[in-house]
Amino acid sequence: MVLKGIAASSGIAIAKVYKLQQPKLTIVKKEADKEEELAKLDKAFTKTINDIEAIKQRAAANLSEEELAIFDAHLMMANDPEMKSQIQDMIKNDGVNAEYATQEVANSMVAMFESMDNDYFKERAADVKDVTFRLQCNLVGAIIPDLTAIDEEVVIVAEDLTPSDTAQLNKTYTKGFATAIGGRTSHSAIMARSLEIPAVVGCGNILEVANHGDLLILDAVDGAVIINPSEEEVKVYTEKKVKFEEEKEALKILVNQKSVTVDGHEVELAGNIGSPKDVDGVLTNGGEGVGLFRTEFLYMNCETDFPSEDEQFEAYKEVLERMNGKKVVIRTLDIGGDKKLKYFTFPEEMNPFLGYRAVRFCLDRTDIFRTQLRALIRASAYGRLCIMFPMIATLDEFRSAKALFEEEKANLIAEGVKVGEKIEVGMMVEIPASAVLADQFAKEADFFSIGTNDLIQYSMAADRMSEKVSYLYQPLNPSILRLVKMAIDGAHSQGKWCGMCGEMAGDELAAPVLLGLGLDEFSMSASSILRARKMIRSLSKAEMTEMANKALQQETMADVVELVKNSLK
Ligand code: PEP
Ligand code: MG
Repeated sequence: MVLKGIAASSGIAIAKVYKLQQPKLTIVKKEADKEEELAKLDKAFTKTINDIEAIKQRAAANLSEEELAIFDAHLMMANDPEMKSQIQDMIKNDGVNAEYATQEVANSMVAMFESMDNDYFKERAADVKDVTFRLQCNLVGAIIPDLTAIDEEVVIVAEDLTPSDTAQLNKTYTKGFATAIGGRTSHSAIMARSLEIPAVVGCGNILEVANHGDLLILDAVDGAVIINPSEEEVKVYTEKKVKFEEEKEALKILVNQKSVTVDGHEVELAGNIGSPKDVDGVLTNGGEGVGLFRTEFLYMNCETDFPSEDEQFEAYKEVLERMNGKKVVIRTLDIGGDKKLKYFTFPEEMNPFLGYRAVRFCLDRTDIFRTQLRALIRASAYGRLCIMFPMIATLDEFRSAKALFEEEKANLIAEGVKVGEKIEVGMMVEIPASAVLADQFAKEADFFSIGTNDLIQYSMAADRMSEKVSYLYQPLNPSILRLVKMAIDGAHSQGKWCGMCGEMAGDELAAPVLLGLGLDEFSMSASSILRARKMIRSLSKAEMTEMANKALQQETMADVVELVKNSLK
């Protein structure tokens, strides 16, 4: 069976399906033999404790002491004689099945914790739910997936992957993933590209049609998934995989080459990263800098609280040091929208993507923002740091954010801390309002980086997470090109540089137009850099400028695509 999806991170994989889906339990009350149920309960408790111990051990390599504490809380609960004896009493007194008794006891414990006026006890309610869910699964023989336990080659099939799922992926065994929802710019797609794992997203009903253990071909070049393929299909795709990998290998000769056009115009090709670990990919793929460090992942990977100033300082310093004087653009916290934190509850909003997020949150919670700014300014002594603010809509927002930066910089200098000589302070252009007013922003911002993932989402009013409206993700629509031109021209009018860190920067059909429009820096997933360099080195800037001017005058995205393809012939 073939399913169509969106190729989110290119490559081909052929492996067994690992379904990452929580089992759905339907617990019904039954009359049951007391002795049998008590014995079943004993066994399930033992297995639950062993399972949690094993998960904790596997997680120990990647998590801090503080993060591991969650497993201790679960172990304490699973070992708590009070909970077990309440379940046993119910089995003995009411003659009911163990999973039903567990559910009843769990419900009353959760209700009790949730009614308490104390955050600590409220959190315990979540622990009870986790532990008793595992216990019930063990009672009925249902399997809870565990990414850290995978020990053979698989393709993961899931509704979507959260950042903590992707953080647990073992690249040795995870050959790719396919998700039911999402688009090219959803966060699981972005993570797949930075991990260089092939991925197809937006595969619709894949969870209904793929079973654990099925053989699956993931074609993340053309955006398709084949479940239980024929021998012939396996043969064809094995060849396609070899060819893909050979082409990738051949690009390696460009690692140390310049990104320069045939008529001598040089641009900068940089990499997008989500953690210091991703610097490896940028360097091995010949990145000339980091054009976007999405710091929110640092926050999302914390279990109990916002990361401290020191923790952040270490992460930023590591990236700056490893980039060894090359430009590193670090974006301040862009949280909210679809990006949630385990330890902070965002207010319920009708439209979270249009709501309390990114710099809006930071300007409200200046305590959290100042901590990040201090960590960044301290790290600036170790390389060439550019700081940028996300989701700037108005000049007032930019001025407020920059004023906080200046204040913290002055504070640190007064404290005798060494800071970098020149820290550039710029902004993302990802809200149409800021693109339209780019010439004014450019008087105060040191640089722009165009965030096309959001710029397109907001211009087209099309949720970037929804595969239903993914046809409106149209980077080459003339309307988007005109906004991009406004941003670039705005920056240049004040002698500033303009980059792009949205996915459009790594799009092979968009690159010639962006070059023609005068973009200075292209920042993309590390795995796209060499392909982009090959393309840039084959183009003439003068010709692309002429072509881009024509592109701006087209009517539809299809017209622009045709124009670009003709000009590349
Ligand atoms: C963007 O919006 O284009 C961008 C780079 O930021 P993010 O994808 O993290 O929203
Ligand atoms: Mg964005």
